[in-house]
Amino acid sequence: MSTSDVYDCVVIGAGVQGSFTAYELAKRRKRTVLLEQFLLPHTRGSSHGQTRIIRKAYEQDFYIPMMHQAYQLWAQMERETGVKLYRQTGLLVMGPPDSHAYQQTKATMLRNQIPLVPLSRGNFSQHIPNVNLPEGNEALVDVGAGILYADRALKTARDQFEKLGGVIRDNEAVTGVEPGAVVTVTTAAGVYRAKSVVITVGAWANRVLAQTGLQLPLEVMRMKVCYWREKVPGTYDANNRFPCFILTEGEESEHHIYGLPSHEYPGLVKVCNHLGVRTDPDQRDRDASEWDVEVLKRFVARVLPGLVPEPAVVETCMYTMTPDSHFVLDRHPAHSNIVIGAGFSGHGFKFGPLIGKLLCELSQGEEPSHDLSPFRIARFRQKIKSAL
Ligand SMILES: Cc1cc2nc3c(=O)[nH]c(=O)nc-3n(C[C@H](O)[C@H](O)[C@H](O)COP(=O)(O)OP(=O)(O)OC[C@H]3O[C@@H](n4cnc5c(N)ncnc54)[C@H](O)[C@@H]3O)c2cc1C
Repeated sequence: MSTSDVYDCVVIGAGVQGSFTAYELAKRRKRTVLLEQFLLPHTRGSSHGQTRIIRKAYEQDFYIPMMHQAYQLWAQMERETGVKLYRQTGLLVMGPPDSHAYQQTKATMLRNQIPLVPLSRGNFSQHIPNVNLPEGNEALVDVGAGILYADRALKTARDQFEKLGGVIRDNEAVTGVEPGAVVTVTTAAGVYRAKSVVITVGAWANRVLAQTGLQLPLEVMRMKVCYWREKVPGTYDANNRFPCFILTEGEESEHHIYGLPSHEYPGLVKVCNHLGVRTDPDQRDRDASEWDVEVLKRFVARVLPGLVPEPAVVETCMYTMTPDSHFVLDRHPAHSNIVIGAGFSGHGFKFGPLIGKLLCELSQGEEPSHDLSPFRIARFRQKIKSAL
């Protein structure tokens, strides 16, 4: 393209958040280009894989209205495209009743009237066979929770974006962002100018933000995604109404351990840690440590007796953590036409269509349609490195 062309918006990074932001901009007839460093689709960021959990079981009240709308937007996209993106399975939440995470989650769900089924030790195995409810734990089911078809969702958002006239340039890493009334974005292949820029580059956020003089307190973690074989095929199958599950804290880890029913790989159940190892996003697969798989082996042997306690498939992914595990959804402190969506802290996928809408609103200078105060950059005042 000629450097004199000015887009309404350049979105950098085509993971779930960038893809939905681009789609939302195109729906509003904004001339938009979506730039991605790798050839699409790829497995080197945080949004790949067949499935993610969607749930309203949250500790904080502020996520609840956001999740109400996120569910509506996922359903709207299914209606508009005819593509199935969500499957209801329920989410089994287990944890010590006096622990902070379990107590808060249950209280928040009750306060917000989220449909839930409390389970007692007496009726647990009748509802959830083949799971040993850990000693001293309580359990409930978030009824509306389920599975999102992740790869399919990304493809659908990008396809819709292109149908609406949006331009995707993959295999084109951004190497420069020059702020201004018109922002100049440079890649190895070209120069793009735009009235606004949205930066949704996942684990690479601080690399790209450095070009704008800003560094956020983000920590990139390598996460192992482990799949475990059913001893009897079908035992933990979504088709047999086995739910997704989370243990909020347990003997093996004080962090969440979570899983999804066998579905994406027949006969294999996904069980993972919510804690990983610090990594450099370009060296993600070099770390050989195994402690996180050992934690899972002990959990599987104790709680899921119908699984072989040795992973059959191990894949990797990345979390980009903020200090409080809440997202960054904000305008750049010095350049209001540069918008940042970052630090999704291992739980951002389910919000994808809503994040896209909110980042679009911010990029167009509008008042965002949800209260974004929990997600402001200013909350890190003590920790921000800024050359501004
Ligand atoms: C194992 C695992 C399980 C998870 N489970 C859940 C779950 O059950 N439910 C849930 O809600 N969430 C879950 N999450 C979290 C969720 O997947 C992430 O929050 C979300 O995918 C983050 O998306 P993103 O768009 O910010 O990042 P990414 O998907 O990493 O996208 C960023 C993109 O930017 C590109 N990029 C980077 N630098 C540049 C550059 N210079 N130029 C151009 N492009 C660039 C990258 O290549 C990448 O494609 C999970 C995450 C993992 C890893």
